[in-house]
Amino acid sequence: MTSLASSQREHLAKMMDEREPVLREEIRAGLRRMRVEGYDELLSGTSDAGDESLASLVTDINNADAKRDAVELQDIFAARARMADGTYGICIDCDVAIPYERLEAYPTAKRCLACQQVHEAKRAQR
Ligand SMILES: [Zn+2]
Repeated sequence: MTSLASSQREHLAKMMDEREPVLREEIRAGLRRMRVEGYDELLSGTSDAGDESLASLVTDINNADAKRDAVELQDIFAARARMADGTYGICIDCDVAIPYERLEAYPTAKRCLACQQVHEAKRAQR
Protein backbone atom coordinates (compact mmCIF):
# COMPACT_ATOMS: atom_id res chain seq x y z
CA MET A 1 0.00 0.00 0.00
CA THR A 2 0.99 3.57 -0.49
CA SER A 3 2.33 5.55 2.42
CA LEU A 4 1.03 8.82 1.01
CA ALA A 5 -1.49 10.77 3.03
CA SER A 6 -4.77 11.28 1.19
CA SER A 7 -4.15 15.03 1.09
CA GLN A 8 -0.79 14.39 -0.59
CA ARG A 9 -2.39 12.05 -3.12
CA GLU A 10 -5.06 14.62 -3.85
CA HIS A 11 -2.43 17.28 -4.37
CA LEU A 12 -0.50 15.08 -6.82
CA ALA A 13 -3.70 14.13 -8.65
CA LYS A 14 -4.53 17.81 -8.98
CA MET A 15 -1.08 18.56 -10.39
CA MET A 16 -1.71 15.96 -13.08
CA ASP A 17 -5.23 17.25 -13.72
CA GLU A 18 -3.78 20.70 -14.31
CA ARG A 19 -0.98 19.41 -16.51
CA GLU A 20 -3.24 17.34 -18.77
CA PRO A 21 -5.01 20.19 -20.63
CA VAL A 22 -1.64 21.95 -21.12
CA LEU A 23 -0.24 18.83 -22.77
CA ARG A 24 -3.35 18.37 -24.89
CA GLU A 25 -3.07 21.92 -26.13
CA GLU A 26 0.62 21.51 -26.91
CA ILE A 27 -0.03 18.30 -28.82
CA ARG A 28 -2.91 19.91 -30.67
CA ALA A 29 -0.74 22.90 -31.60
CA GLY A 30 2.05 20.59 -32.74
CA LEU A 31 -0.32 18.57 -34.92
CA ARG A 32 -1.79 21.74 -36.34
CA ARG A 33 1.69 22.93 -37.31
CA MET A 34 2.27 19.62 -39.05
CA ARG A 35 -1.15 19.87 -40.68
CA VAL A 36 -2.08 16.37 -39.60
CA GLU A 37 -5.65 15.79 -40.74
CA GLY A 38 -8.28 14.25 -38.51
CA TYR A 39 -6.51 14.65 -35.20
CA ASP A 40 -8.50 17.60 -33.92
CA GLU A 41 -11.53 15.41 -33.55
CA LEU A 42 -9.56 12.77 -31.68
CA LEU A 43 -7.97 15.40 -29.48
CA SER A 44 -11.28 16.80 -28.31
CA GLY A 45 -11.39 13.53 -26.36
CA THR A 46 -14.75 12.14 -25.42
CA SER A 47 -13.62 8.87 -23.84
CA ASP A 48 -10.58 7.77 -21.86
CA ALA A 49 -9.99 4.89 -24.24
CA GLY A 50 -10.00 7.34 -27.13
CA ASP A 51 -7.51 9.54 -25.34
CA GLU A 52 -5.14 6.68 -24.77
CA SER A 53 -5.24 5.48 -28.34
CA LEU A 54 -4.72 9.07 -29.41
CA ALA A 55 -1.64 9.34 -27.23
CA SER A 56 -0.19 6.18 -28.71
CA LEU A 57 -0.95 7.42 -32.22
CA VAL A 58 0.91 10.61 -31.51
CA THR A 59 3.97 8.75 -30.28
CA ASP A 60 4.20 7.26 -33.78
CA ILE A 61 4.45 10.71 -35.26
CA ASN A 62 7.91 11.85 -36.05
CA ASN A 63 7.85 15.09 -34.12
CA ALA A 64 10.02 15.34 -31.04
CA ASP A 65 7.89 17.88 -29.16
CA ALA A 66 4.53 16.25 -29.82
CA LYS A 67 6.05 12.90 -29.00
CA ARG A 68 7.46 14.08 -25.67
CA ASP A 69 4.10 15.62 -24.76
CA ALA A 70 2.25 12.46 -25.77
CA VAL A 71 4.56 10.32 -23.66
CA GLU A 72 3.94 12.61 -20.70
CA LEU A 73 0.18 12.40 -21.32
CA GLN A 74 0.39 8.60 -21.38
CA ASP A 75 2.37 8.75 -18.12
CA ILE A 76 -0.48 10.73 -16.57
CA PHE A 77 -3.05 8.12 -17.68
CA ALA A 78 -0.82 5.37 -16.29
CA ALA A 79 -0.33 7.20 -12.99
CA ARG A 80 -4.11 7.63 -12.64
CA ALA A 81 -4.57 3.92 -13.26
CA ARG A 82 -2.03 3.20 -10.51
CA MET A 83 -3.90 5.60 -8.21
CA ALA A 84 -7.09 3.70 -8.96
CA ASP A 85 -5.59 0.29 -8.20
CA GLY A 86 -3.63 1.45 -5.17
CA THR A 87 -0.11 0.99 -6.56
CA TYR A 88 0.58 4.69 -7.10
CA GLY A 89 3.67 5.97 -5.29
CA ILE A 90 5.22 2.50 -5.06
CA CYS A 91 8.39 1.82 -7.05
CA ILE A 92 7.59 -0.72 -9.79
CA ASP A 93 11.05 -2.25 -9.47
CA CYS A 94 11.71 -2.55 -5.73
CA ASP A 95 8.23 -2.04 -4.17
CA VAL A 96 9.50 0.70 -1.89
CA ALA A 97 7.37 3.82 -1.34
CA ILE A 98 8.60 6.67 -3.54
CA PRO A 99 9.33 9.75 -1.37
CA TYR A 100 6.69 12.46 -1.58
CA GLU A 101 9.33 15.04 -2.52
CA ARG A 102 10.13 13.05 -5.66
CA LEU A 103 6.45 12.65 -6.55
CA GLU A 104 5.85 16.33 -6.05
CA ALA A 105 8.64 17.13 -8.51
CA TYR A 106 7.57 14.32 -10.83
CA PRO A 107 3.99 13.15 -10.11
CA THR A 108 4.06 10.39 -12.73
CA ALA A 109 7.23 8.76 -11.35
CA LYS A 110 7.04 4.96 -11.55
CA ARG A 111 10.33 4.29 -9.81
CA CYS A 112 12.27 5.50 -6.81
CA LEU A 113 15.31 7.57 -7.69
CA ALA A 114 17.80 4.72 -7.22
CA CYS A 115 15.86 2.36 -9.51
CA GLN A 116 15.28 5.14 -12.04
CA GLN A 117 19.01 5.75 -12.26
CA VAL A 118 19.66 2.03 -12.78
CA HIS A 119 16.89 1.94 -15.39
CA GLU A 120 18.31 4.90 -17.29
CA ALA A 121 21.85 3.54 -17.14
CA LYS A 122 20.61 0.24 -18.63
CA ARG A 123 18.68 2.06 -21.32
CA ALA A 124 21.71 4.17 -22.22
CA GLN A 125 23.77 1.02 -22.73
CA ARG A 126 21.38 -0.39 -25.29
ZN1 LIG B 1 12.99 1.33 -6.48
